[in-house]
Amino acid sequence: MKKRVVVIGAGIAGLSAGIHLQRNGYDVEIVEKEPSHGGLCCAWDRKGFAVDGCIHWLVGSNPEQQFYKLWNEIVDMPSIKFIDFDTFTTVEDKQGNQLHIYTDADRLLEEMLQKAPEDEKYIRQFMKAVKKLSRFKLPVGKPPQAYTLMEGLRLVFSLAPFLATLGKWSKISVGEFSDKLSSPLMKSMMLSLFSREKSILFYILTLAWMYNKDAGYPVGGSRMFAGKIAETYKRVGGKLTYSAGVKEIIVEDGRAVGVELESGTKIDADIVISAADGHATIYKMLGGAFTDKTIDGYYENRVTFPSYIQLSLGIDGPIDELSHSAVIALDREIDPESGEKGDFVLMRKHDFDPTLAPEGKSLVTLFLTTREHEYWQNLKKSDSGEYKKAKARVVDDLLAFFERKIAPIKDKIVMTDIATPSTVIRYTGNWKGSFEGWMITPEIGLKQMKQTLPGLESFYMAGHWVQAGGGLPSALMSGRKAAQLICLKDKVSFQSD
Ligand SMILES: Cc1cc2nc3c(=O)[nH]c(=O)nc-3n(C[C@H](O)[C@H](O)[C@H](O)COP(=O)(O)OP(=O)(O)OC[C@H]3O[C@@H](n4cnc5c(N)ncnc54)[C@H](O)[C@@H]3O)c2cc1C
Repeated sequence: MKKRVVVIGAGIAGLSAGIHLQRNGYDVEIVEKEPSHGGLCCAWDRKGFAVDGCIHWLVGSNPEQQFYKLWNEIVDMPSIKFIDFDTFTTVEDKQGNQLHIYTDADRLLEEMLQKAPEDEKYIRQFMKAVKKLSRFKLPVGKPPQAYTLMEGLRLVFSLAPFLATLGKWSKISVGEFSDKLSSPLMKSMMLSLFSREKSILFYILTLAWMYNKDAGYPVGGSRMFAGKIAETYKRVGGKLTYSAGVKEIIVEDGRAVGVELESGTKIDADIVISAADGHATIYKMLGGAFTDKTIDGYYENRVTFPSYIQLSLGIDGPIDELSHSAVIALDREIDPESGEKGDFVLMRKHDFDPTLAPEGKSLVTLFLTTREHEYWQNLKKSDSGEYKKAKARVVDDLLAFFERKIAPIKDKIVMTDIATPSTVIRYTGNWKGSFEGWMITPEIGLKQMKQTLPGLESFYMAGHWVQAGGGLPSALMSGRKAAQLICLKDKVSFQSD
């Protein structure tokens, strides 16, 4: 008889685990607390617009690079049209100086040297690493346990030419590198897209992926992408139960044997995978009974990606003054009452994706990071009137900023939607409203996290809380790896498609 697996969460990680296990002869049911799939990779309808909550770029969009093959196992990649931008984004510092982050590495080097000749030495080092790592292939196919000796040796051999570059840059944070620079514009370039604490290696890899045309935007956006993956899961025979939040993971004699839903319904299983939030899984659904110093240490000390505020605007007509992406330094604080926010606003005009707006209209999003998740959550719970007022203050300040920096817009707005950290927590359960889980910092480097918990059999975790660095590829890989670990344990030869 087939082994029965319950997966908690129909985000990309849960769907990836579900597809691979179903294909390898397991009987899978995914239970999802929301009435839809995708988790953070989602969009929502507002007055004819599809407000996109996720994808800026998808690593794995180039058929010649290795992530494409992994995506193609769970989503029909040739059916998706990808856009590769010539300019990743344009950064504008407080003085109004602009630097275009071209995706072509040679053009970007030229742009940086022209705009910040005083930082030539550091710019050349940085861009040399981008070029070098554009030839680097991340080992993505298997968990370390699944390697044979020969495969392991081959891997070490293929990594060898890159180890010095990876080692050097993984130990430097974005903040440390930017402190070495003299040009305010270069500093803005470094700090506007990635947090200070993050390892700068991630910035370098992102530019390398862009240079390889392996980080394109999929037309149709997040909902299309998650929808196609959910279709694959259903096609291979997986069961998906919506509006089924898990309250508890049932454990008997140190073995996970099922889940209990918020409704009180119990679902038996031979194996349980949690692809939901890591903190809630370990400390709520399992009551903190299966952890150790290392895991507690993660949740006490590790840096998470921040939460965010996203203002989405439906505009009647074009906004020619705004390019598809710009990151602009704030000249005044946005609603100081609601606490700390990042120093930059990321603005996107989604005209490149006609599926997101009605004809003749434009969707514009303004995005800024914040770690004030408690403020927003408490306000939402304690006083919904004050919560609404706080949102309205943020909208007013962001609109005023847009008008100071870009163009008059207020009279053309036909749709306004604002998401706060409270929205992220409510709809996805992500700890602190984080948008990508654990950040890769110099302290963590490229160290892998375990997908099992101490003392608990028949239980695995997947998603961006067990794969530092976050993002859709982490969700894909960790789901696939959970399936591989299960197959390895059961001596099932893993079939990927
Ligand atoms: C604004 C934004 C922009 C982003 N841009 C990009 C990008 O351009 N490229 C990129 O690669 N990544 C991007 N990301 C990150 C990416 O979306 C995430 O890292 C990835 O989707 C995480 O997937 P996951 O499956 O690990 O987790 P999630 O998406 O959080 O999925 C977890 C699922 O579990 C469900 N769940 C939670 N608790 C329970 C419970 N108790 N019972 C049942 N179900 C439960 C949730 O509802 C959810 O569906 C972005 C994220 C955001 C928010």
